[in-house]
Amino acid sequence: FRAIVENVGDLVAVLDTDGQRLYNSPAYGPLFREKDIREGTSSFMEVHPDDRERIQALFRKTVETGIGECAQFRFVLKDGSIRFMESDGRAIHDADGKVSKVVVISRDITEQKQLEADLRELAATDMLTGLPNRRHFLAQLEQEKARVSRGEERCAAILMIDIDHFKLVNDTHGHVAGDHALKHLAALMRQVLRKIDSPGRMGGEEFAVILPGADLPAAETFAERLRKRVAESQAMYQQRPIAMTISIGVSEIKAGDARSEEALSRADRALYRAKDSGRNRVT
Ligand code: GH3
Ligand code: MG
Ligand code: MG
Repeated sequence: FRAIVENVGDLVAVLDTDGQRLYNSPAYGPLFREKDIREGTSSFMEVHPDDRERIQALFRKTVETGIGECAQFRFVLKDGSIRFMESDGRAIHDADGKVSKVVVISRDITEQKQLEADLRELAATDMLTGLPNRRHFLAQLEQEKARVSRGEERCAAILMIDIDHFKLVNDTHGHVAGDHALKHLAALMRQVLRKIDSPGRMGGEEFAVILPGADLPAAETFAERLRKRVAESQAMYQQRPIAMTISIGVSEIKAGDARSEEALSRADRALYRAKDSGRNRVT
């Protein structure tokens, strides 16, 4: 058994019923110094302070019931770096059937966690502009609508933004320049937005913004500022300026709306009125 325990990649620890170390397999070596995991020291010392109580409670439960549970937690290494771990506890019973020791088998899942986080980020982000994508934006709109409906937020508003005659930008400067112009607009939006605002790319040359705490006049003022900023600036592509204007539809997110999409469609209708009445304007 020692040969097995010393040669598997997993970290194997044997602890007494107080969680004191009796044995740590060599796989602990790359993470901890010998003296940090000495026999008789508490095995919870290296657990991240925010996870420690939960893991200690789980350990006590394993000792009481004899049944282990899988858990995820973080180790804090001596250099301050953090490793994500997944552990399984198993009770060892003595001759009387009492729990006498606990075997904990752990795996380092840091890389897996990082990949998960990267994937989550990727799935929520529009790759061209780096803004939240449509799906992520709609999820945020749903949350904002819930806050307004619960009365946690007095009001909120949404902007629907569409670039005017964008086909012409593509036709005149080429599709790559068009992409560049989209990135330029996203950058302008980021500059003008407050930290609490949530922008998103809804698709193509359509964007949207959630403005928490903004009533209709405040949202219109903000939209007008963005419209003006875009009209006055130019995207530069291969030393050639690309002029651009946007039309914006504004709507309040109302507590009484049955669904968050209702605010979206009101803003959309307002946007189409802005287009109909000449573009480069806020409605
Ligand atoms: P309007 O003022 O009525 O909005 O006119 P428009 O030409 O902007 O409207 P329309 O929606 O008909 O055209 C949008 C164009 O946006 C069509 C498409 O070629 C272009 N487009 C959509 N997505 C992208 C993209 O990712 N990159 C580039 N370069 N162009 C895109
Ligand atoms: Mg469009
Ligand atoms: Mg357009």
